[in-house]
Amino acid sequence: MGFVSVVPSATAPGTDPAVDPAVRSLLAGAVDVARTALVELGEGGIGAYLGVTFENEYAATHRFAAELPGYRGWQWAVVVAAVPGSDHVTLSELALLPGPDSLIAPAWVPWNERIRPGDLGPGDLLAPVPDDPRLVPGYVQSGDPEVDETALEIGLGRKQVMSLEGRLEDAQRWYEGDYGPNSEMAKAAPSTCGLCGFYLPLAGSLRAAFGVCGNEFAADGHVVHAEYGCGAHSDTTLPTGAGSPQYSAYDDAAVEIVEIPRARTESDSTETSDPAEKATSDEEDASDGKDVSTEVNDATEKNDATGQTD
Ligand code: SF4
Repeated sequence: MGFVSVVPSATAPGTDPAVDPAVRSLLAGAVDVARTALVELGEGGIGAYLGVTFENEYAATHRFAAELPGYRGWQWAVVVAAVPGSDHVTLSELALLPGPDSLIAPAWVPWNERIRPGDLGPGDLLAPVPDDPRLVPGYVQSGDPEVDETALEIGLGRKQVMSLEGRLEDAQRWYEGDYGPNSEMAKAAPSTCGLCGFYLPLAGSLRAAFGVCGNEFAADGHVVHAEYGCGAHSDTTLPTGAGSPQYSAYDDAAVEIVEIPRARTESDSTETSDPAEKATSDEEDASDGKDVSTEVNDATEKNDATGQTD
């Protein structure tokens, strides 16, 4: 079985004026020749015919669905060729190729580029590549213990330090990262890290634009750009009236007073035969109801007028 590396380009048959009509017809009609070639290949899994595409004026590719386990969406491709004046085609190549919807492996990555940020685990060793452009020689030990000891104390004791190129790379990456000035968090922040009490500026040339956030509720421990910012900025003040409703004051004068009908007693149910007595009784009931209503209204008016509660 032959293999080619790419899916043939889709050229609509009959649209290229350079193609000889006779050759084009011969190439396009070679479906059975192509299928027979696949059958003779003996791999099986030859599905429905999918169509033909022209490679150039002398060659065309016939495609069939590949019905093979593990090759969902792949296609059989049979390249046929013919020369002007010929009455038959010849077979150039048979191939199994991924179709537009097929599952294929990700692009190959050279071994020395496979480590990605975040891959390093506990116990892993990762040496810088030889002549790493991010590093340059640092202080070279003089051999004088007194001088070397002093150099170590003032931070010159490292064999290598970051080169200008390495520092510029870092600065660019941090600027464009999650803690740079263009992040969504920074755009919505009330102020910037450069003006925040939790901002710990870096040493050296990067100090001008970068520091470390020391707020455990924000970007704690991350390098942040001076123009980054977040809502936990040290100058943040809560808007007036903010706060949890759980702690809002409880107004006990706002209790709604509801009159509950009295349960009927035996004396209530005794009918009086004297109309005068009944009238007097009705007036008293009405008078009682009016008194309750008046008391409630008075209390409400008092509260409305003072705006205070007891
Ligand atoms: S608390 Fe927010 S504004 Fe302050 S340094 Fe940290 S990230 Fe920046």
